[in-house]
Amino acid sequence: MTALLETRDLTARYGDFQALFGVDLTLGEGETVAIIGANGAGKTTLMRSLSGVLRNGPDSIRFDGRGIGDLPADEVMAMGIAMVPEGRKLFPSLSVEENLQIGAYGRNTGGYWSLDTVYDLFPVLKERRSNPGTALSGGQQQMVAIGRALMSNPRVLLCDEISLGLAPVIIKDIYKAVPKIRASGASMIVVEQDIGQAMAVADRVYCMMEGRITLSGSPDALSREAIHNAYFGAA
Ligand code: ATP
Repeated sequence: MTALLETRDLTARYGDFQALFGVDLTLGEGETVAIIGANGAGKTTLMRSLSGVLRNGPDSIRFDGRGIGDLPADEVMAMGIAMVPEGRKLFPSLSVEENLQIGAYGRNTGGYWSLDTVYDLFPVLKERRSNPGTALSGGQQQMVAIGRALMSNPRVLLCDEISLGLAPVIIKDIYKAVPKIRASGASMIVVEQDIGQAMAVADRVYCMMEGRITLSGSPDALSREAIHNAYFGAA
C-alpha cells in the first residue's frame, strides 16, 4: 500500500508535558482509518498535528511524499487535508450556508464537493440553509462541520469524535455519509471513542493509550481481548 499520509516517530508536547511518543501511522489512498482510545490518550493531539494546528519537524508527517510537519494549518488545508474539529466550532452568527462557504475559502478546485453536493449528502441542511448554525440540533451542527470541511475538496478528511454527545440514531445518520464521502475519493481518519462504530467504518484501526499506538490492524484481525488491553492497558 502506498501511503498518502503518514507519521514517522511523531512526538508532540504541550510545554513540559509530552502528549505523543513516537507515533507511526499510515493512511493509504482511499482508505478509512479509525483511531480509538480513552480520554486523554492523545487522539486529538494527533489530529491537531496532522492538520498543522500543532507544528512538528517537517519529516515527522509526510503527505503525498512531501514533509509537511512544519507547515501551518492553512497551508496544510490548501494541500488537501481538512479537519472536522472536536466540538464542531461553527460560527454562531453565520447561517448554515455561510458556514459551509467558509470551508470553500482556499479550496482545491475541480473536486466533487460544492454546496449542491453537500446538500445532497445532508438534505436537512438545504432546508435550514438560512438558519444560524446555532439554531440547529447537535447532529445538524455536526453535519455542517463535516460539510464545511468537504467544501475544500480534501484528499484527506480528518474527523475528531464526530459522534460525541449525539444520540445513537443521529450517529447512525451521520455515519451513513461515510461511504458517500469515500466514493468521492477522499481518504479518512476518524477518531472515535465508540469502538463498535470504529470497527464498522474502518479498513484499519489504531488504538492509542497514553500518547502511544498500542495496537493496529484490520477490524477482522483484532480480538476483543487485544483491543481491551490496548485501550485500557493489560490487566
Ligand atoms: P479526549 O477523548 O478527551 O479528547 P484525546 O485522546 O483526544 O482525549 P488529547 O486531547 O490529545 O487526548 O490529550 C492528550 C493529553 O494531552 C492529555 O493528557 C491532555 O490532558 C493533554 N493536553 C491536551 N491539550 C493540552 C493543552 N492545550 N495543554 C496541556 N496539556 C494538554
